[in-house]
Amino acid sequence: MRDDKWLFQKLDEIWDNHFPDISQNNDVVIKFGRKARQRLGSIKQETKTHSDLLNKNRKTIITINGLFKDLEIPEYVVTATIAHEMCHYAHGFSSPLEQKFESPHLGGVVTKEMKLRGFEKELKLQKKWLKDIWPDYIKEKMPATRTRRRRRRVIIKWI
Ligand SMILES: [Zn+2]
Repeated sequence: MRDDKWLFQKLDEIWDNHFPDISQNNDVVIKFGRKARQRLGSIKQETKTHSDLLNKNRKTIITINGLFKDLEIPEYVVTATIAHEMCHYAHGFSSPLEQKFESPHLGGVVTKEMKLRGFEKELKLQKKWLKDIWPDYIKEKMPATRTRRRRRRVIIKWI
């Protein structure tokens, strides 16, 4: 079963095996979020109050698409998503570490980092899966709402 505990174990494994040089100076939590068509994962730092912003060691929260609980989603898709968010952490985005780039996806820095850290295979497989399978998968699991699925107008002509 894939639950938040499973996610935490995955993150632990990924961190130990692929990011051993990245120190953890704050609490990091990972959890499944809402089901989403487009967003696979996200990373942010908790800000409950304005003064939290001054604390660079505040908690990091990694959220993974709720659809990924489904065992039909290959594990490499989840692995690549967690690794992606971990690259942001390593680059100092939503983490206490020094920020390495001006913006999180500048010039493909995440892809480069993932390859350097041994996720080339997962990256390739994830990309292919997202292209070949994901569109039909979300069509089935998250059908468009009525307002989006506009009824085709029936035109009756009287001759
Ligand atoms: Zn990203």
